[in-house]
Amino acid sequence: MSDSILVLNAGSSSIKFSVQTPTGPDTVRMLAVGQIEGIGTHTHFIAKSADGAVLAETRWPDGAGPANHDAALHVISEWLDGFLGDARVLAVGHRVVHGGSNYTGPVAITPAVMAKLRELVPLAPLHQPHNLAPIEAVGTRYPGVLQVACFDTSFHRGHSFAAEAFAIPYKFYEQGVRRYGFHGLSYEYVSRRLLEIAPDIAHGKVVVAHLGNGASMCAISDGASVESTMGFTALDGLAMGTRSGQLDPGVLLHLMGSLGMTVPEVTRLLYHESGLKGLSGISSDMRDLEQSADPHAAAAIDYFVYAIRKQVGALAAAMGGIDALIFTAGIGENSANVRRRVCDGLQWLGVDLDGDANDHGADVISAPGSRTRVMIVRTSEETMIALHALEAMSAEAVA
Ligand code: AMP
Repeated sequence: MSDSILVLNAGSSSIKFSVQTPTGPDTVRMLAVGQIEGIGTHTHFIAKSADGAVLAETRWPDGAGPANHDAALHVISEWLDGFLGDARVLAVGHRVVHGGSNYTGPVAITPAVMAKLRELVPLAPLHQPHNLAPIEAVGTRYPGVLQVACFDTSFHRGHSFAAEAFAIPYKFYEQGVRRYGFHGLSYEYVSRRLLEIAPDIAHGKVVVAHLGNGASMCAISDGASVESTMGFTALDGLAMGTRSGQLDPGVLLHLMGSLGMTVPEVTRLLYHESGLKGLSGISSDMRDLEQSADPHAAAAIDYFVYAIRKQVGALAAAMGGIDALIFTAGIGENSANVRRRVCDGLQWLGVDLDGDANDHGADVISAPGSRTRVMIVRTSEETMIALHALEAMSAEAVA
């Protein structure tokens, strides 16, 4: 096996990982991908090759598996040692949700950086602690190996004050209450891919719709993010699988003031019981909704599509135009129905969809004469993290 970069994406009860080997100064190839989920409960570990063949799989009876992130990382690293054989782990790239207002790109992890990242926990209490959890364990397991934190926020750090601020007293802005934007690693990856496959578009005005279980949209002008539908947290903007998306803050005042709901109750409601799941009462999964005959499923899809269409207009306005609309992530890449329904309302913006190309999931799904090009670009946040780790390795080698 070849020397490789390990990419880790740690959540509350799971660690997703991928193993990627450098193939050039700024290219990598995926060797394996996997995850350990249900940490502390009914844990399941699986590792697959890049073409989807199962390389290893373990299921533990309730409570008998790894009890915490350290133990889960041990399972991954034991498997990785066997998988790599004599090859080395060159670097470890971590997905970290929040880089605050200062980190405009990835950063090599040092004790000082860790201290700064811990200070950001109050900005993302549900995610940041889990993202940071494996870093110390990796340091013990692979002493001296470069670790790199890659943030969901940093791609958006060039936003204007108007795009970044809330109109509440300025002192809150200074304290970090800002619209940070998320999914930045996905948008950065899509922007890089556009440079390779459609450079004219990459230098133009692009709206990217990252439509997965989490969903957001981004206005990207000449490769730089200028606006995002996500704000202070990853709750804002589009309705998602289980997250509410945009909400009048008065609703919160009502829920907590008049209905007496507590902060944990409202947190649960907005993160886990809302969005497509809450509206439909059926499922958070777009495939289930598309297959359902229930009118609530149809209404939830209507809401999702309407919000996307509305945001295409807003993001085009933020850039003063639009040259391309890009669909990515699970729903964006796979649901011809959602793409068609979004585009059906956008003729006024020069969008002319090619129905056949859309049904077949082609790379370019707009008609040849369409003023606005419409494309599907498959995202890979883990590849973006591996590329960042590779860049950090080169920077360390030069330093
Ligand atoms: P992600 O978070 O990017 O993995 O995306 C997950 C979402 O993509 C879920 O809502 C899935 O239902 C949706 N999805 C995946 N494949 C399809 C498909 N073939 N048709 C519609 N939705 C899909």
